[in-house]
Amino acid sequence: MNIIDTHLHLPVLEQRDLLKAKSILEKELKKLNVMAGIIIPDNIPNSSIGDVEEVVELCSKDNNLFVMGTVDILSKDYVDRIKLLKEYAKNGTIKAIKIFPGHDPIYPIDAKLIPVYKICVKFDIPIVIHTGWNSGHPEVAKYNDPKYIVEIAKIYSNLNIVIAHYFWPEVEYCYDLTSDIPNIYYDTSGLGDDEVITETGLEKIKDVIIKTVHKKPYSFVFGTDYAMCDIEKHINLINCLNLTSQEKANIFSKNAISLFKIKVDE
Ligand SMILES: [Zn+2]
Repeated sequence: MNIIDTHLHLPVLEQRDLLKAKSILEKELKKLNVMAGIIIPDNIPNSSIGDVEEVVELCSKDNNLFVMGTVDILSKDYVDRIKLLKEYAKNGTIKAIKIFPGHDPIYPIDAKLIPVYKICVKFDIPIVIHTGWNSGHPEVAKYNDPKYIVEIAKIYSNLNIVIAHYFWPEVEYCYDLTSDIPNIYYDTSGLGDDEVITETGLEKIKDVIIKTVHKKPYSFVFGTDYAMCDIEKHINLINCLNLTSQEKANIFSKNAISLFKIKVDE
């Protein structure tokens, strides 16, 4: 089975060393036969998981590691940061842009995000939106409620939107609100994590993935939130679902190849 992990972060090391962090990540991918991945940098400078420019530089010579752009619209220089993302999107350096409502106290309907959505539409790359609780912090989910994401999806019908973490633990609410919207996609990241399973319920998670795949077969991409979450647990979660091998292949790699337009050496 070919696997592409669309939601990776560099591991945090005791001493900041991005090269070393990258080699640890690569070893993990190799061990689990993950053939390609998309690394998501932090949206602030000097982060222990690297910022956009650092991760772009780090992966510039790789054929199987891709990068997502990120932005913090609350930072003073966010206009310049968005300009940089536009350049990266234009020359194909970034395969998507991710925003973090809930990590950041911002809503997806914030007007400052309009230029970001426009870049995604213009250069035909998806916007990935962090959703759901943060570990131990249910209250942050008010920022990333799918009702706002639906608003954006309807305004920008050419914008492909990926809901990361399926708004856990309220996965059924997220399904009900978004399953009829063709330009809303989902990644599996976090859904194989112990805390997410405890708070959401494993059966609910499985049901919602299966229902979503049956309704929109193209819409689910594989992601793990490594190094916060375990890659193997996510592979096992998909493998144990009552889906056909074709449906699993769509989740594991085919959907990601078309959504993110990535070329991988198989
Ligand atoms: Zn993540």
